[in-house]
Amino acid sequence: MKKEMTYLDYAATTPLDPKVLRAMMPFLTLDYGNPSSVHSAGQKAAEAVEKSREKLASFLNCSKEEVVFTGSATEANNLAIFGLVKKIQKLGFKSHIITSEIEHHAVIEPFKILEKQGVEVTYLPVDGEGRISFSEMEKAMKENTVLVSIMYANNEVGTIQPIKEISELIKKNRKKLFSTDYQIPFFHTDAVQAVNYLDCDVNNLGVDLFTLSGHKIYGPKGVGALYVRKGTPLEPIILGGGQESGLRSGTENVAGIVGLGEAISQIKRQKSRLRQGHSTLRVSDIRPEDSVPRDSMNSMSFGGRAKNKNLQRLRDKLIIGIIKTIPGAKLNGSAKDRLPNNANFSFKGAEGEAMVIALDQKGIAVSTGSACSSKSLEPSHVLVALGLSEEEAHTSLRVTLGRGTKEQDIIKILKELPIIVKKLREISGKFN
Ligand SMILES: *Cc1c(COP(=O)(O)O)cnc(C)c1O
Repeated sequence: MKKEMTYLDYAATTPLDPKVLRAMMPFLTLDYGNPSSVHSAGQKAAEAVEKSREKLASFLNCSKEEVVFTGSATEANNLAIFGLVKKIQKLGFKSHIITSEIEHHAVIEPFKILEKQGVEVTYLPVDGEGRISFSEMEKAMKENTVLVSIMYANNEVGTIQPIKEISELIKKNRKKLFSTDYQIPFFHTDAVQAVNYLDCDVNNLGVDLFTLSGHKIYGPKGVGALYVRKGTPLEPIILGGGQESGLRSGTENVAGIVGLGEAISQIKRQKSRLRQGHSTLRVSDIRPEDSVPRDSMNSMSFGGRAKNKNLQRLRDKLIIGIIKTIPGAKLNGSAKDRLPNNANFSFKGAEGEAMVIALDQKGIAVSTGSACSSKSLEPSHVLVALGLSEEEAHTSLRVTLGRGTKEQDIIKILKELPIIVKKLREISGKFN
């Protein structure tokens, strides 16, 4: 990345923390042993893997044995979903599984495959802000529901789901799966976008399976982890040498795992430093004609549970600035239950992809939504589930902030974007 690039796409990936790189370096160079080897070089690598596992366990408030390293969060989601359903299928049980309409593709696609294979599936709808409804969820739960998978925070619009409350609802509806000790349904959450900002104590949250990713938390790409609560039935989806307690064969990505451990330790430290944020303003309170006095800007915030105040302040400056300067700009997602680093807008008459390209030419990196769907012409399934028309969904822009974001970056996008939107609207003629 060029130094002068304004990077505002932290939900797609984050830069590697220099401390993380430093921790990884020995295992990319001198300490290249295979953790399965008996000799001391192998044992050194094995120890490093176990140390990292301890760091994750301490962060998640679980035991070491409950942490499984994978090659990505995508793989962790696949392991959680296929692994659980396959294991229960082996008992000859006809399963029903539940997820939401706004999950990442790494959850949606496994659900679709299982559905094709005859597993009964419910996709829960969400409200206009991207929240699932408890009553819909309660209605969806059946005698044979074995798995509920609901993401902690959405990667496109940043909506936070009340995971603890959902797990309490699930617990209330739990029953013993006949002839086993399993209490169904089990609860999985894809927490990839939440790890930087929200509570990740798996016992407090009450989840059985919890997915995280290295490269979304200033760690390396190509490594993820799945928390698996003791006693959760899981069948491996990758078979071989039996690494990771048989749940994920393949020689461990030692440097990646060490990097993930260091990235997690950094977040743990950062979280203990930050205090709870506040929500004082609703999006519905803001109209373009509102003039927001400069001094009061700092006290305004979206995203009630956010802990990172400075990030949130910059993000709110962005949201308020955009809504004030671009006519008809609309904020997608939730005003209150929102990640502190996420802003997602629709600009009627301006095409998302065109805005991304034009901003890139000005040295600003943003996204239309998820990195995965941006290559296809399909509208974002998340925005459609929030009730946007396909046309509206094609006019969306996701701006996500992170540790490196400076006041100057926000000033820069606030200067460039209104000009770009105006031009694109003139070309399309779809906004007057
Ligand atoms: C990025 C992301 C993933 C995929 O993570 P990888 O480690 O890149 O496979 C899964 N879920 C969510 C919510 C994400 O944002």
